This record gives sequence, structure tokens and C-alpha cells, in this order.
Amino acid sequence: MRIAEARVERRLLRYHSPITTAHGTIADRWMVLLTLVDEDGNIGQGEAAPLAGFTPDTVEIAESALRRWAADQAGDGDPPASVTARAAVDSALLDLAARIAATSVHRLLAPESPDRLAVSALATGASVEAIAASAAAAVAAGHGTVKIKVGTHGMNGDLDRVSAVRSRIGPDVRLRLDANGAWGVPEALRHLDRLAEFDIEFLEEPVAGIENLAAVRNSSPVPIAVDESAPTVEDISRAVETGAADLVVLKPSAIGGPSEAARAAAIVRDAGMNVVVTSLLEGSVGIRAAAHLASAIGAVDPAPGLATASLLAVDVATPFLPVNGELLLG
Ligand SMILES: [Mg+2]
Repeated sequence: MRIAEARVERRLLRYHSPITTAHGTIADRWMVLLTLVDEDGNIGQGEAAPLAGFTPDTVEIAESALRRWAADQAGDGDPPASVTARAAVDSALLDLAARIAATSVHRLLAPESPDRLAVSALATGASVEAIAASAAAAVAAGHGTVKIKVGTHGMNGDLDRVSAVRSRIGPDVRLRLDANGAWGVPEALRHLDRLAEFDIEFLEEPVAGIENLAAVRNSSPVPIAVDESAPTVEDISRAVETGAADLVVLKPSAIGGPSEAARAAAIVRDAGMNVVVTSLLEGSVGIRAAAHLASAIGAVDPAPGLATASLLAVDVATPFLPVNGELLLG
């Protein structure tokens, strides 16, 4: 593969309504789009989408890393030091390789992998009623798994939200929660005792830090997932070894790309644990790359958290939206 052109462009993502997590509220954000063109005109794209609380780099760092990579090494040099820039390069090279091979990325990586993925929907809303309505709409649209953020409204506010969502979606839809490290260990255990009655699939990041997660997981009535407390393959290995979680959330855009995510998934599975592939709330180029990776490694259950293009009013590409709760990969 000879790369004839590498374009680096900063682009804006804007959400339909602001997304609030324990790390803060975002209404819009900048990302960097990498477009590679080979000598025959084949195109491959990747996205660098830094997000405070989830990646160590900023959009400025990612952009300058990609510009250096594009100028100096286009295709055969060392990957950039910035983790989100690495994700963009890895995704763009895979995308380009698939185009050249006249196949899709997931088939290039694993020929028998599924071409559709049932995905979890993130329900959002500023009030209890709004979030319950968002969850109900996701189920009506065909999703069998719904996720909501907790940890930003106090224990009673969280219980109100979880209870309202559970009663609106019924007993058969899976419900997962994400506290983004909002609680301390004793508080998390008190919350979990109350939340357990709502049949929670798993709770991501009740507390921040691998040791704290291990302490919670030891006594939790609900399965615990580690996410941003284990941002690298090394951290994930340590989380697995210390029993910090029941399962590991993998964000290809935050860990350095699909290839690094696959390496992490192998470590997690070797330890007998499961992975969930999710987005970084990035644009549809990054979401698509994550979906192809999820298919290629067979990370289909629990459902990947990749329905997030629907949250975007301004996207970087044609929105990669689920159809009847499934992403169609082609
Ligand atoms: Mg999470």
C-alpha cells in the first residue's frame, strides 16, 4: 500500500442535547479527521477524538501528532505518540486496506464475522421523565439494551431515574448503568444495594481507580465493569489480575485503535472475562471503526455501546445509525 495523500482536518461534533457524565457536560467538541488516499484513489478514514476524562491528549496534541505523521511518515513510519492520533492512523489504514481488498474491515480481520450488530442505546435527558422517554424510544426503535448515566443526581435522583427507566422499558430489556467514577467505595456499595433490585446488567466505573473498583466488586450484588480506570492495555492487565471488574469496556478510539483494542480483548478473554466495545461519543468514522472491530473479535454479547451517532446533530460523516437496533456493517 502506497499512500499518495494524507489529509488532516479539524472538525466539530455537536450533540442534539448536552451529554452529562460525572466528568462534566459536553455540548460540542472538536475532533480530527484523517483521510488517506492511495495511488489508485482508494480512500481510508480515521478519527482522533480526544475526550477529557477518557483520553490523556487534547485535540491540539492529536492534530499536531497527525500532521507530523502525515508529513513525515505517511504510512510506513512509527505511529504517533498521541493515543487518539494512533487510533485515527490504525483505523484509517484498516479502512484503506479493506477498500483495496474490496471487502469490509470486519471481514478483512475475520472473514466469518457477523455483518450486523445489535447495539445498546444510551438514553439521555435532563429530567427523570425525559430520560425515561428516551429509554422507551430506544426500545421502540428496536434496542434490546439501554444504558443510562448515573452519579450526577445524588442517590435518590439516580434511583428515581433507574426506577423510571426500568418501569418504562419493562423486565425483558437489559439495563446497564455508568457512574463514571462518581462515588467513593462505601457510597458505591450503598448505591449498589439499592440499584440491584432493578436487574442491572452491569455498572461501569462506580468508583475511580483499579484498587477502589476491586474493593467494590468484592461486595457488589451487581456485575462491575472497568472503563476509564483502565485506559491502556497495561492498566487492563492489572485490572484483570487484581479482580477489579467482571468485564472490561473497550473503546478503540481511546486505547489507540482497533488493533490495540483487539490485543486488550485477547488479554481479558484469556483471563476468562468478557469485553464490551463502546464508542467514545465520537463521530461516525470512529463509531464505524469500533463496530467493525466488535464484529471481528465477536464482541456481540453484551451488546456493544455503539448507537451514539444518534446523539449527534453535527457529525463528521454520514451518521452511522442503527436500523431496528442493529448496526449494518456491510
Ligand atoms: Mg463508561
